[in-house]
Amino acid sequence: MSNMMNQNLNQQFKNKNISIVFGCGGNRDEIKRPKMGQIANQFCNKIYLTDDNPRNENPKKIRSHIKRKINQSKLYEIASRGKAIKEAINNLHTGEILLVAGKGHENIQDYGTSKKFFSDRKCILNQIKKKNKNLSKKQKGSNSRRKAKLQLAKLHIKIANQRKDYFHKLANFLAKNYDNIFIEDLNIKAMQMMWGRKISDLAFSEFVNILEYKANVTKIDRFYPSSKTCSNCGYVLKELNLKIREWSCPSCNAKHQRDVNASINIHRVGASTLAGEVVRATFVA
Ligand SMILES: [Zn+2]
Repeated sequence: MSNMMNQNLNQQFKNKNISIVFGCGGNRDEIKRPKMGQIANQFCNKIYLTDDNPRNENPKKIRSHIKRKINQSKLYEIASRGKAIKEAINNLHTGEILLVAGKGHENIQDYGTSKKFFSDRKCILNQIKKKNKNLSKKQKGSNSRRKAKLQLAKLHIKIANQRKDYFHKLANFLAKNYDNIFIEDLNIKAMQMMWGRKISDLAFSEFVNILEYKANVTKIDRFYPSSKTCSNCGYVLKELNLKIREWSCPSCNAKHQRDVNASINIHRVGASTLAGEVVRATFVA
């Protein structure tokens, strides 16, 4: 969490109540803890103080450092990160913003000697599911339904932002490590119509937009049969069911792992479109 982030939120959502769930990591930056508490106190109306990778420190001690500069009336101290998130979502009112800070896309809570699985994202999504169930029980057109809907919209916004952060990090990594990146220009809209939102969540096209901005991206024609073409001999299958992950070429007997084979083809076609440039194949497992 940073000062910038909260200031940003305040500018984006003027006069909105902001709740925050956060904690500070153990074994680092002890001096920053009360400062972070102070910033949260300045910008947020409800502060759910919890644990965030305590590592080898006593989590209670970490929280006591943070809360020195937090107004008692705003403070909810809940050691369990999962319970803190649930409580924060339950207490959220119409139009309020909830900021779950710290973990982003990490999947671990680090207690020094033990590491436990924990994902902010999963926890938030579970809570949204519960709220969705409540919502479907509420009468259509009713006031309480409208309110519940608004709350959900806010929760969705926060997850979208987390995803964007992750996309930027991933795009930076790829841009730094690869001179050229070849991707299939997948027809996301068509894919959604066929398989529903799960397949992409439109996230892939959002990611491609970010990636194109930062790296040399060459898009391959969406109608090129990258999966169905044998990367060894060029034979093209008539059909390849999505469920089939491995196949053997009927022409040359080469054994293929579906995605690896497709990536070899995409690389080959992409490289051939970059006239005059030397392109070296790099494979990421
Ligand atoms: Zn073949």
